[in-house]
Amino acid sequence: MALNCVVCVKQVPDTKRITGEAMTEEGTVNRRALPAIFNPEDLNALETALTLRAEHGGTVTVVTMGLPSACEVLRDALVRGADRAILITDRRAAASDTLATSYILSCAVKKLEADIVLCGRQAIDGDTAQVGPQLAEKLSLPVISYVEELVGISDGKITAKRNVGNGWEVVTCTLPALLTVMETANTPRPPAARRVMKFKKARAKSEVEAMAADLLEGDYENYTAELKATEVEKYCANLADRGLLIEQWDLDDLEADLTWCGRSGSPTKVHRIQSVVLTGGEYREFAATDDGIAELIGELIHDHTVG
Ligand SMILES: Cc1cc2nc3c(=O)[nH]c(=O)nc-3n(C[C@H](O)[C@H](O)[C@H](O)COP(=O)(O)OP(=O)(O)OC[C@H]3O[C@@H](n4cnc5c(N)ncnc54)[C@H](O)[C@@H]3O)c2cc1C
Repeated sequence: MALNCVVCVKQVPDTKRITGEAMTEEGTVNRRALPAIFNPEDLNALETALTLRAEHGGTVTVVTMGLPSACEVLRDALVRGADRAILITDRRAAASDTLATSYILSCAVKKLEADIVLCGRQAIDGDTAQVGPQLAEKLSLPVISYVEELVGISDGKITAKRNVGNGWEVVTCTLPALLTVMETANTPRPPAARRVMKFKKARAKSEVEAMAADLLEGDYENYTAELKATEVEKYCANLADRGLLIEQWDLDDLEADLTWCGRSGSPTKVHRIQSVVLTGGEYREFAATDDGIAELIGELIHDHTVG
């Protein structure tokens, strides 16, 4: 059975390379000060989809919701082997919390008629791990979260081993289904050199618009708005002919209910943001003896770390 896999990928700030400028004075994340990367576990989700395609045939489509700059992760997914890439971008989606994000993604997945939806377990910036299960709920799909190993697919069912914290369980559910994939599931393949050369020029329309002065020939700065739009369309048509146009959808393309998107679709209210600076404190060493261990446990109970 050929599988239509849809992988949700997110561009995130590299939280491992946090500097003193990582937060703004208002206490929000200063995204410009942090390099943007492919959310690590989304690479594992993509790898799972590419492996499924190799075994069963079908297609791998990657979808991201974000600013046009998020096309960077879509290009990365294309060079690693994805067949199709879609950017969902719309000002009306700004300020979406996880509920609104998963609603908007659900509209895209419905349109794509996926057999399997794959998400990373968690994004390293928002860190909630909510979007995958919420997306499954919105699509009325069974979900296998915390996947560490795909056992197999047969008779329209998928079996996977999932991490339950202190062990594993092997579960089976019917397709279509949604999986959230952990970093321990596989080793993502590196970009393929031939595909890097091919897809380095892949662009979405919003990127072409933003870079039009550099990309288009002629006296672009003095073009009328109409002529600019025509030139952008021509450039995009040429990209499409060469298989290099990253598809771009807005909320109208998704026929999304706007009350479920952006701020109006986001019940989460942020009351306070606190910048926590961790500093080193005193430390104690305990001997690896029965007495030492008893003393250590006594300390942990005393300061309420356990118990
Ligand atoms: C009140 C509020 C306002 C916010 N406003 C903004 C805002 O204006 N701009 C902004 O960028 N963020 C905003 N956020 C953050 C935004 O809600 C989260 O980034 C987003 O919902 C994903 O949640 P998460 O990072 O916890 O992802 P998780 O739930 O940890 O992600 C799990 C998996 O879901 C998938 N996934 C998650 N997000 C996406 C995505 N965007 N595209 C494709 N796949 C995805 C990935 O596979 C990921 O591995 C806001 C959050 C709140 C609470």
